[in-house]
Amino acid sequence: MKSNIGINKNRLIKSIEEMAQIGATAKGGVNRQALTDLDKVSRDLFIKWCKNENLKITIDKMGNIFARRQGKNNNLPPILSGSHLDTQPTGGKYDGALGVLSALEVIRSLNDIKYITEAPLEIVVWTNEEGCRFPPAMTGSAVFSGQYNLNDALLIEDLDGKTLGEELSRIKYNGKTNCRPRKIGAFIETHIEQGPILEIADKSIGVVVGSQAQKWYEVNIVGMEAHAGPTPMNKRKDALVGASNIVLLVNSIGNKFQPGGCSTCGVLNIKSPSRNVIPGECFLTIDFRHPSDQRLKEMDKNLRLEIKKIANNYNLKISIKQILELKSKSFNKKVRKTIEKVSSNLELPHQEIISGAGHDAVNINDIAPTGMIFIPCVDGISHNETEKALKKDISAGAQVLLHSMIELADNTK
Ligand SMILES: [Zn+2]
Repeated sequence: MKSNIGINKNRLIKSIEEMAQIGATAKGGVNRQALTDLDKVSRDLFIKWCKNENLKITIDKMGNIFARRQGKNNNLPPILSGSHLDTQPTGGKYDGALGVLSALEVIRSLNDIKYITEAPLEIVVWTNEEGCRFPPAMTGSAVFSGQYNLNDALLIEDLDGKTLGEELSRIKYNGKTNCRPRKIGAFIETHIEQGPILEIADKSIGVVVGSQAQKWYEVNIVGMEAHAGPTPMNKRKDALVGASNIVLLVNSIGNKFQPGGCSTCGVLNIKSPSRNVIPGECFLTIDFRHPSDQRLKEMDKNLRLEIKKIANNYNLKISIKQILELKSKSFNKKVRKTIEKVSSNLELPHQEIISGAGHDAVNINDIAPTGMIFIPCVDGISHNETEKALKKDISAGAQVLLHSMIELADNTK
């Protein structure tokens, strides 16, 4: 590791604060949703900063921005780093912008000392990561990695009926370059953790090993409506009692599958509720997550078996429908090792961590060696205007990114 090279912490923080002025909210957060006028202003500022560093800008048909710094050998595939500039309506200063501006700080630091890497470097800004205006989330990276069709993405509508494609043209970020996989040496995304694990463990760096497997379900519980007074307890078919047992069951499965299991009932509806009627029909949703596909399968088996028992015990008809399944993903070993080794060499407290949320890096992992650097955020809070990251952790994340990118760029073949 080149120990004499470092990032400029104050310059990085200043850029994060300046970017956060675009769409700043009264409570100290940011509202800069994808392809709004404010998104354009933030993109323009990013490009201005890149041009100051002599980077070559390319914009693809999804509006993804690539800013390239040439290496010694430009036939080598580039080392990419970046994230997104769009935010939630009640977003914070760091979710997304941290990853883009940490990558920019890496380039600025290398320019300061005129250090040229073997492979070229690129900063990337992915379009529509949050997906709050144009669902689903992470569309820019999904199209780039071939998981989502470009034309379908351009036709996604917001609540006013404006399409993603129209809005991209309106803010003049409908680029000419094809949006599709190309040879990439490695991709690293720096991001706030959006959970409390690193903060509790007092670690500045999370070496992200991958993302969790998920299964989502919809459950219908059918019993029979009856009068709350004259119906004896042993004659009832109470759908809400069944639903309540399922809520407790789901919670107990999450607890049973530790470490790593997460289980949530997020929606519970009673059909035509009335205070003196025994509920006849209920609907609820279940969200299961686990880092291991196999363990998630066992959670699924457990759920189905126990639901059958609940149906029998309470004389109910219960149907369960799986509506989403995502396999777990592991990030590239070499990239993970590089981040780990660099963190050790810099004597920064670090640990391995699983990403609980989705990120562009999870999409790019399908087409290129990918890794992520997490830094803690205060109280694990994000998608919230009070989102905060400490200066020492921001600096640590960028420092690890700098040395990881040099390591990867100088050692690609
Ligand atoms: Zn994000």
